[in-house]
Amino acid sequence: MILVLNSGSSSLKFQLFSMDTLQSLASGIIEQIGEKSSHTRLQFTDSDGKSQEITHTQPIPEHKAAIATMSELLKQNNLLVHLDKLSGIGHRVVHGGEAFHHSVLIDKHVMEGISDLSPLAPLHNPANLAGIEVAMAQAPNTPQVAVFDTAFHQTIPVHSFLYALPFTLYEKEKVRRYGFHGTSHSYVAKAAARFLGRPFTSLKTITLHLGNGASAAAIHNGSCQDTSMGMTPLEGLVMGTRSGDLDPAILFYLARETGMTLNELDELLNKKSGLKGICGDNDMRTITERIKQGDKQAALALEIFCYRLKKYIGSYLAVLGGADCIVFTGGIGEHSSLVRQKSCAGLKDLGIVLDPEKNELRSGEARAIHLQQSKVQVLVIPTNEELEIAAQTLKLISSTSTS
Ligand code: ADP
Repeated sequence: MILVLNSGSSSLKFQLFSMDTLQSLASGIIEQIGEKSSHTRLQFTDSDGKSQEITHTQPIPEHKAAIATMSELLKQNNLLVHLDKLSGIGHRVVHGGEAFHHSVLIDKHVMEGISDLSPLAPLHNPANLAGIEVAMAQAPNTPQVAVFDTAFHQTIPVHSFLYALPFTLYEKEKVRRYGFHGTSHSYVAKAAARFLGRPFTSLKTITLHLGNGASAAAIHNGSCQDTSMGMTPLEGLVMGTRSGDLDPAILFYLARETGMTLNELDELLNKKSGLKGICGDNDMRTITERIKQGDKQAALALEIFCYRLKKYIGSYLAVLGGADCIVFTGGIGEHSSLVRQKSCAGLKDLGIVLDPEKNELRSGEARAIHLQQSKVQVLVIPTNEELEIAAQTLKLISSTSTS
């Protein structure tokens, strides 16, 4: 079996996969780690095929206790005796910087590398590393793999990843565009190629990952050419609570005029902007409901979100010289027909024509939502980052065990 771990600053997500078919056997989440009471949920299907959900609440002070709780739950439910019985463990790691272009087997050097990159992702890499350290200590002989959110974007050419800043800032401070959500962009782009029956390496694809965080990527011949998130996940599309692109001089203006501190400006752009900043809500379901009730501010938030998305679709059509397909994914991309319709509206002359009926169909399956006349195929493909991490873990442990 392969276990996938996503250790966040206050949560631990885990999913257990079978080794042969990478079928999901169980998944769970422990939330509010480090708070007074942590909430734990485990979902699995028992041997009779019945789905079960177990939840309980108890204080879990840090990742060591979280992984112990997870292990105990998996044991109690006859899913896994001990972590050292696993064939492999795959860890999600947010920032791989320029050091990691691919997933890697974890050893001391890799752990040091992840730690060295912490200044670039101070909220994520230390938490990812905390999970890795516990799992390595508990299962030292089990191969463990780090799968980086940034790795898929490492093929982006220099003219696309560099900011027009003094070059020394890149050389000395590592200031450049890195991009995130790489595991999701890579997973859905490959799934799109399979759906279309075409080799991944022959396609021009625009992938749109629209969840609480949102990003777009332009992919040509199987390698990423551009992506909307930058040095941090703040750049690019409008998101749930993040502003995305803006004039950086707004920050100097606000600091001078209102006396806002660096921390306040950080919080403003990351937590109080985006959909939430415009209309007070960051959940697209609530916003859609409010629009149905005639709420103008919610409609404005949606308009700004979709307009920015359309601009990125247009710019990536230019980057790629046209596209074979556009893929919508993430909670909003997979479920909001309204966002898909508005962001693709009026793009007929660019070869994009949605089928209104197909766009409205609800399904958990990969599907096409364009009319036959549409030169660009428009797809909805559910993302599955955990499965991609499990697949990359399996690939790496299989290749090292046979070499
Ligand atoms: P995360 O980035 O945290 O993984 P998700 O990919 O689950 O988030 O996406 C969360 C977003 O998806 C929220 O804005 C949520 O409102 C939206 N969403 C989920 N289901 C629907 C739906 N049926 N219609 C519209 N939006 C939806």
